[in-house]
Amino acid sequence: MRVPEQYVRAGKLAREMREWILENVSVPQTCLEIATSIEAEIARRGGQPAFPTGIGINGVTAHYAPQEDDQTKIGAGDLVKIDYGVHFDGYIADTAVTMTENDEYQQLMETTKRALEAAISVVKRDPRTGEIGKAIEATARQAGFKTINNLSGHTLEQYTVHAGKSIPNVYAPNQPMLKRDDVFAIEPFLTLGTAAGYVVDAPPSSAVTIYSLIMRKRTAVKELDALVDHVWNARKSLPFTPRWFSKEFGRERLQKLLSELERRRIVRGYPTLVEASNAPVAQFEHTMKLEGNSLVILT
Ligand code: MN
Ligand code: MN
Repeated sequence: MRVPEQYVRAGKLAREMREWILENVSVPQTCLEIATSIEAEIARRGGQPAFPTGIGINGVTAHYAPQEDDQTKIGAGDLVKIDYGVHFDGYIADTAVTMTENDEYQQLMETTKRALEAAISVVKRDPRTGEIGKAIEATARQAGFKTINNLSGHTLEQYTVHAGKSIPNVYAPNQPMLKRDDVFAIEPFLTLGTAAGYVVDAPPSSAVTIYSLIMRKRTAVKELDALVDHVWNARKSLPFTPRWFSKEFGRERLQKLLSELERRRIVRGYPTLVEASNAPVAQFEHTMKLEGNSLVILT
């Protein structure tokens, strides 16, 4: 089977966006400015964001999408991860880059990039996901770093970012194999050798900024149903962030409705993930596909 044409388009736009990000994102922009400008640029080029643009500063590792009131600026000392995605008709390209002006983090950043390259060369000859994790872990260790052991890459399916198989960032035996035509993302996260090496949920007091619809169930509450319909029309099962819908629903009201939908298990919230010892984390990610015996890097 050939790669659906939409995957190729999504991958190409994600790749072009990487160039745009490296040229246009700089200190001291705000996280909000960065996320909104990336999403606007994706739209301007005819695509749609596959999920809310994640901006992770230092120990903030994943699932943080800035909201309207976020005035945080990226600084010259920060390690900044930008995790973004593009989709066409639900076919997703998921990719991430890390940027820093801090010399202290150069080696961590470069090693993470190398870990992704090492993983890619393994997957070309060995489809066992545990072996991919092993290569990532070995690259980290040799340079004195650690991988985040509870975050992993994943297969992708139409309208589904995490489709079932995980691609660990550590060696793990008895893992599933990648099969021909699987589309998947590999995403090593590396941190300092002295760090805890795993992520935890940010404290419950910090806002959840990423959600997705689990099911399209009627609630008989008019405004809940209206929100579910709105999300379904805009996103289907793809993740979203309250910022995208605050104009239509109002910020405070939207937050209340989302909490209620979460309580009813119609919507799922993804808490922000932070490194357990708050050590800086770097990440690189590509989406790719095994086509026969060859590996196609989509992003
Ligand atoms: Mn990603
Ligand atoms: Mn991913």
